[in-house]
Amino acid sequence: MQKSFKDRVLFFLLGSKLSPYQHTHHGVLLLGGVGYLACSVFNFLLKTSDIILVYIQFSVFLTTLVIWYFSRWQRQYHTMAIVFIFLTALVALPFNWVYNAGLSGPTYFLNLCTLAYISVAFRDFGVYRTIGQVLTIVTPLALVFLDLYRPELVFTYPNGLAKALDLSFSFVVTCLLLLLMMKSYSQRYRLERDKAESLAQQLRVLSEQDALTGLHNRRAMDRYIRNYQQESLVFSLGILDLDHFKKLNDQWGHSYGDEVLCQFSSLLNTIALEHKGLAVRLGGEEFVLLLPFGSEQALTCYQKLSDQLNEAELAHGSITFSAGLIAAKQAEPQDILLERADKLLYAAKHAGRNRIYTDTAPKLGSC
Ligand code: GH3
Ligand code: MG
Ligand code: MG
Repeated sequence: MQKSFKDRVLFFLLGSKLSPYQHTHHGVLLLGGVGYLACSVFNFLLKTSDIILVYIQFSVFLTTLVIWYFSRWQRQYHTMAIVFIFLTALVALPFNWVYNAGLSGPTYFLNLCTLAYISVAFRDFGVYRTIGQVLTIVTPLALVFLDLYRPELVFTYPNGLAKALDLSFSFVVTCLLLLLMMKSYSQRYRLERDKAESLAQQLRVLSEQDALTGLHNRRAMDRYIRNYQQESLVFSLGILDLDHFKKLNDQWGHSYGDEVLCQFSSLLNTIALEHKGLAVRLGGEEFVLLLPFGSEQALTCYQKLSDQLNEAELAHGSITFSAGLIAAKQAEPQDILLERADKLLYAAKHAGRNRIYTDTAPKLGSC
């Protein structure tokens, strides 16, 4: 599918959405960098901080771009994320504190925002994440003492308006960063949930599938029968068993036997799909066919299947099956259903094989 221009730009800047941690982190780096650039311009124009902070913020902007470049384009995401943690906790935030009015300034907001980000984004970074968390909590607590004992080292606002403007601006930037984080993480959560759902669906398909033939297995059959019964639907159940299959195996080899099982399964599945039923391999050369109608109507399907098997082009001659076919009674326990069908199958085998016995009066069917 052709990607839109916006998708291509986002891919260039952030990388693949299939790596949601990296995708988000690249976004935060770029936005954080632009945020620092905006702050440095803001502080420079309105003189709300010492000029040194303007230089520091501008340097952080440039450094952030370098980190983004190495992370996005030089496959250094992990290393650059660690650099990012230390740069933010040890350089950007403490300098921000000192040169942006300390306790009266906005650095507490930024520490809080950084703490949230490190906690969520770097879940798999073990000790580096813990160090980052500790630093973002402890550093401002330590810097409070600078305000108390060396206030001359901490920049103070020239007037009340500058303070109000700076705090409001930083508050808005912090809110936007938090909103962005929440948005991207809810997107990531959705992505991971979709992935988990699709994996669960694949697992369910696999857990209900027979590995050799691709037909459904016993577990799927149990579920279908439960559904039919819960909705009080009419259905028929037949157990089909290939005749003299062991001989065929002994004579032509196990892999030829497998081939025959697959060919028979394919015919059986076609009939099941045609009538919205279910084809099941119970095990070995024994199968079940569930059809959503009574055994009289189902018998014609079985006869058709028998004809098709007869005409199938098998390498070592044709093969037959015997079947016991019953109509399910209301609320009949599943083991009784299978037992009834099995008894008819047994009778069909004993009567000479290659026949379908049903429970419909007056006479048992035969091929
Ligand atoms: P009947 O007509 O009475 O059903 O005789 P049969 O030989 O078909 O039945 P029997 O139960 O004696 O033998 C079934 C054989 O099916 C024995 C086993 O080796 C073979 N078998 C079971 N599973 C597989 C399989 O997955 N692949 C192959 N090739 N053979 C299998
Ligand atoms: Mg058999
Ligand atoms: Mg058998």
